[in-house]
Amino acid sequence: MKMFSAAMKNYGKLVSRTHRRLVHNVIGIDLGTTNSAVAVLEGSEVKILENEEGGRTTPSVVAFNGDDKPLVGLPAKRQAIINPQNTFFATKRLIGRKYTDTEVQNDLSNVPFKIIPNENGDAWVSTTDNKKFSPSHISGNILSKMKEIADSYFHDPVKHAVVTVPAYFNDSQRQATKAAGKIAGLDVLRVINEPTAAALAYGIDKKQKDGIVAVFDLGGGTFDISILDIEDGVFEVRATNGNTHLGGEDFDILLLNYILDGFKAQYGIDISTDRLAVQRIREAAEKCKIELSHVKQSEISIPFIKEDKHINFTLTEDELDNMSLHLINKTIDPVKKCIRDAGLKVKDIDEVILVGGMTRMPKIRKVVEDLFKKTPNTQVNPDEAVAMGAAIQGAVLSGQIKDVVLLDVTPLSLGIETYGGIFSPLIPRNTAIPVKKEQEFSTAVDGQTGVEIRVFQGERSLVKDNKLIGHFLLKDIPVSPKGVPQIGVEFEIDADGIIHVAATDKTKYPEDSPHYGKENKVSITVAGEIGLSEEEIERLIRESKENAKRDQELKQHIENATRADIVCADTDNVISQFGKLMEEQEIQIIQEKLKSLRNKINDIRDRGIIHDPQGIRDEVDEMQKICMGAIQKVAVKQQQLKGK
Ligand code: AMP
Repeated sequence: MKMFSAAMKNYGKLVSRTHRRLVHNVIGIDLGTTNSAVAVLEGSEVKILENEEGGRTTPSVVAFNGDDKPLVGLPAKRQAIINPQNTFFATKRLIGRKYTDTEVQNDLSNVPFKIIPNENGDAWVSTTDNKKFSPSHISGNILSKMKEIADSYFHDPVKHAVVTVPAYFNDSQRQATKAAGKIAGLDVLRVINEPTAAALAYGIDKKQKDGIVAVFDLGGGTFDISILDIEDGVFEVRATNGNTHLGGEDFDILLLNYILDGFKAQYGIDISTDRLAVQRIREAAEKCKIELSHVKQSEISIPFIKEDKHINFTLTEDELDNMSLHLINKTIDPVKKCIRDAGLKVKDIDEVILVGGMTRMPKIRKVVEDLFKKTPNTQVNPDEAVAMGAAIQGAVLSGQIKDVVLLDVTPLSLGIETYGGIFSPLIPRNTAIPVKKEQEFSTAVDGQTGVEIRVFQGERSLVKDNKLIGHFLLKDIPVSPKGVPQIGVEFEIDADGIIHVAATDKTKYPEDSPHYGKENKVSITVAGEIGLSEEEIERLIRESKENAKRDQELKQHIENATRADIVCADTDNVISQFGKLMEEQEIQIIQEKLKSLRNKINDIRDRGIIHDPQGIRDEVDEMQKICMGAIQKVAVKQQQLKGK
């Protein structure tokens, strides 16, 4: 029997499990590092919903420009150059992470905005006016935008969603993503793995092609590899592996640093702290990287980057390949491990699917081809497959699709700390989920009356090398010699990959003991590490609802302004047609009314300033009345002229 450490620190939180209902219009959202997409099942077709700019994907960018409501998507991306410190992108790389994590520390100098430690040490971001946001909050803004796209498609607010996460996300990162959904006012029915979603989108189309499928998913911020067995509508994940901090952003940062170094070598000027310059170079670097997927060489030209100095040079595809080879090679090990974990050989893989924008890079396709000894399948749209798969899973949950079953796995081993800082795994990685497991433990020292259960995820044998995802205390254990109490610890990973742990004192006490027949059980949903308390999440939900109400009001005012604007345009027409026959004084009064109304219309449209709608309607009525009166006089004049 394993022994607990005698240390007692904090109490864990008690959170009740949510009950799931069957619902309709469950949207699928791919919450990507760089871009996000939303899809829904319509009849038998999965449809990607377009945003208001007509785009099928929406940049995962959120900007704060002083207004209450942040800009999200393309409008946020467009203004990044003039507002780099308040424009947040790729924050998915920070989600569920500590400020001190090496990956976060590496990002600090590579982004133009501020990354700061929250009180509990989580990585947050901050604006120039010191407003602090958790990465979940920023993701919540993006999810709100995706919800809005779906709301306007259905002409009705949607409530339920399936959201995807990188397969290699740990519990904290999954929890933080669920919190983001809650902030956006969405009931996230299920969190599924991105590559599994992509396989669903692939497999649903090609049921005849059952077999073993590898999904190689390299997006803006994360890399995942999953191997699935698709058989008669059953999608069984055999193994998964990856790196939650490897993606297109790393290629952009590499090119950015290359350009900064080149500039320094040429002019002796270090512009790495000039945030505006860095943002411009970053955008040019990404553009160049994307271009080099289609052409052999690309021109990087950034005029007036520093005073009268310009950046101007050519980069070839080979140069980019060589420069980024160490990044590309980081995908090889996880692929090999994944094939091994699945109990397969390379030759057993029937099809390789490419997902994520970075898989358009020819060198990456070549490496994948060499690894699997087969040409990857390029029929799946790498930007849309994940959202489509999420929509399919949504339709399975709503009962619209009946013949599809998804069996996913947990990406990381789950266990607890036992005496001496040893990691005791209870559920090994790649175990099919949902899963429940129980193991018995005891106390490590005589008279120990409480045990602290510290839950970790990872593959290392010492807990210090793994990720602490939650901890709680089972107290009131009757005093007894070490090894006597029997503590049952139950671990459960649900279909979202989210962990619930319970500890129970199962010692058989004699009938005359005060503890006889009394239940001593503590259970938690591991949620202690996402850096957002329930209260904070509730506050954010409240704020987003208030914003929604204000937005709705503003929308009505804008519609009102549009009606007034139409009348103004008609009035302009009347003046230009009949002005010559109107009285000078009447024209002047009408023009004053026009000016006053137009000022109010512009206030509403451009400055969000609200004017009393009844007041505007009264002004419009008055102007129309004067105008009608003037026209009647004109008509009389015309009759008189005809009569002469
Ligand atoms: P995703 O997260 O799947 O939207 O992938 C976005 C990443 O893919 C970004 O880093 C993009 O710069 C990158 N990307 C998109 N298209 C291409 C392309 N044609 N060649 C290389 N990288 C690309």
